[in-house]
Amino acid sequence: MSRYWTLASLAAGSVVAYGLPSVTAWDPIRVRAFPNLSGRGTPSQVAVTFDDGPDPASTPAILACLEQLGWTATFFMLGAMVTKAPTLAAEVADAGHEIALHGHDHHNVLTRSPQRIEQDLRRGLDAVTSATGRTPRWYRPPQGILSTPALFITARHGLRTVLWTDAGRDWRADATPSSVVASVRAGLAGGATVLLHDSDCTSAAGAWRATLGALPRLAELFSERGLTPGPLAAHGLLDDTPPHSHSGST
Ligand SMILES: [Zn+2]
Repeated sequence: MSRYWTLASLAAGSVVAYGLPSVTAWDPIRVRAFPNLSGRGTPSQVAVTFDDGPDPASTPAILACLEQLGWTATFFMLGAMVTKAPTLAAEVADAGHEIALHGHDHHNVLTRSPQRIEQDLRRGLDAVTSATGRTPRWYRPPQGILSTPALFITARHGLRTVLWTDAGRDWRADATPSSVVASVRAGLAGGATVLLHDSDCTSAAGAWRATLGALPRLAELFSERGLTPGPLAAHGLLDDTPPHSHSGST
């Protein structure tokens, strides 16, 4: 899906994005080149992350399922969604989940000036922090697209950028619980960071139901592999330095 593009090169201070359709085509490249950015953690763990919420239509069902499974996860919230549902954002935090930032609006940072990126980040941080009482530690850019200015700006705000190593591809119109499980299984390795969504606000309508249906089966999969699911905070990510922060070019 074209909205899921990602970083191919930060090394020269430049960014080149490759389009999907095939997550597996670029995942190994990204994981090899940027293991810390991708969120590769402790081999016995798997980090479970949800983007794009909180959403009154879907997040409560996801929360209930997580409670049944006994999982704690990381929620990359959108400030715009938090503003519409601040109580729900607080419920996510009160349930013990980790609160992270996905920006205020779901915009591609490559199309925005550094000033706009900064504005969006501040708005998102303010919304998430005031609703949940938590200060996000992690940032995941909308669509997984990065730019060098965005990395510096987020780092200046004390945020560490984390993408993912494994995607459920649950944003697709044809996503089913089986397809989500199959996609996660295909990319699963010890220390994986799994991308899922608790809202369809940027996905195909109703796509979150595939995610919800997949969760108990993902629990079986993780158990089979001997992996303990948890939030990024428990994932043992060691390097808090943004990539190429020594580069003078932004
Ligand atoms: Zn998103």
